[in-house]
Amino acid sequence: MEIEGVDKMGVTAIVGGNWGDEGKGKMTDLLSKEADYVVRFQGGNNAGHTIINQYGKFQLHLLPSGVFYQNTINILATGVALNIESFLKEYNDLMARGVPKPKIMISNRAQVILPGHILFDQYEETRLGAKKFGSTQSGIAPFYADKYHKIGIQVNDLFNPDQLLTKVTRNIAKKNVLLEHFYKQPLLEAEKICDDLLQLGNKIKSFVGDTAKELTEAINQQKNILMEGQLGALKDPDHGIYPMTTSSSPLASFAAIGAGIPAASIKKVVTVVKAYSSCVGAGPFVSEIFDEEATELRNLGGDNGEYGATTGRPRRMGWFDVVATRYGCTLQGTTEVALSLLDVLGYLKEIPVCTAYKIDGTVTHDFPTTSQLELAEPIIEKLPGWQTDISHIRSYIELPIETKKYIDYIEHVLGFPIKYISVGPERDAIITR
Ligand code: GDP
Ligand code: MG
Repeated sequence: MEIEGVDKMGVTAIVGGNWGDEGKGKMTDLLSKEADYVVRFQGGNNAGHTIINQYGKFQLHLLPSGVFYQNTINILATGVALNIESFLKEYNDLMARGVPKPKIMISNRAQVILPGHILFDQYEETRLGAKKFGSTQSGIAPFYADKYHKIGIQVNDLFNPDQLLTKVTRNIAKKNVLLEHFYKQPLLEAEKICDDLLQLGNKIKSFVGDTAKELTEAINQQKNILMEGQLGALKDPDHGIYPMTTSSSPLASFAAIGAGIPAASIKKVVTVVKAYSSCVGAGPFVSEIFDEEATELRNLGGDNGEYGATTGRPRRMGWFDVVATRYGCTLQGTTEVALSLLDVLGYLKEIPVCTAYKIDGTVTHDFPTTSQLELAEPIIEKLPGWQTDISHIRSYIELPIETKKYIDYIEHVLGFPIKYISVGPERDAIITR
């Protein structure tokens, strides 16, 4: 029974305010200490979250970032794109490296990545050549296309061989026509795919359950629940830089849908925002920098340079973009901001910031549609740098005055409170305000 006057702790979402790689993994690992549940609600193994803690350095792709705490239940919820082989590899690698066996639950309604999804992702990028999306080629776009085409395979199908064969046969029928005549590639075989899927199903059977029911009960019991977003707001397929987006929504509001919980249960949204910008994949990136200026920031960024956690590709670099980040934080329904990677800017005498866009001679502070964005030029202002290493600092008052001014400036232009300041990749490199 609910007791009047007692506030439920509710659900917290940790999400990205930019293009991804903002340091969400680090923040989630940190905040997971208090969490009963950590939930992935969208996306698949197409992005990576870097975590550095007492067990070493890890790059999680599909596993929720709560796997380092033994009391936390880690959920792969219904909205996730489940690559079972990739899940098993990550799970086994973790234990091979000395991490105690984590508690994991997989939604029986989540859908699985099929071999054809990965192949079509690869063939299509090859076909597009110079016009490619810069996909990680993990099959995510073909997966979500099948889901909304209503020909996807759910986890529960893996425990019903006859039904599985019928569904896989239907799934590959049109694909084989394209493979034969359009891509001119070998055809898919339903029996082979089913045999493999049944085996994979057996391997994950002990993890599978009704995750939405589990979470709804947990909410009623006032458990502490974290929803972990992948990528960032500007990669949202509706509101981001479409079509150079991802294929599922990385917005906090989608966490309710992907996990199957009430929208109103999400009480807190911690939006992780990078002190500068980085982006992977193609698409307009107004505050982008190039050549030596970019190389310097890329090499000093992240825990060991800014390179893709999944692909190893060098990330595109840029300065902090007020227009894009305010838009991203607004879309996320931010209640508090975690400003990450602030330590990285310590080498700069002056810190360039993109404060507005100029499009066809007109200055705008609003984030425009993609076609307008492609015409946008950055308006750059410079803030004084602090030119010192702040990575050892753990209390706000000890920060240099210029650092505090940079934080205050960003808080002011975003219009959302900055609660956490991350000054290094390690779990404890955090300042709480
Ligand atoms: P995610 O996808 O949002 O989890 O972020 P990634 O892990 O892909 O990229 C963030 C990179 O920055 C990783 O290399 C992290 O180890 C690193 N990192 C996270 N927070 C900080 C920080 O405050 N300072 C520094 N220097 N690196 C950080
Ligand atoms: Mg990442």
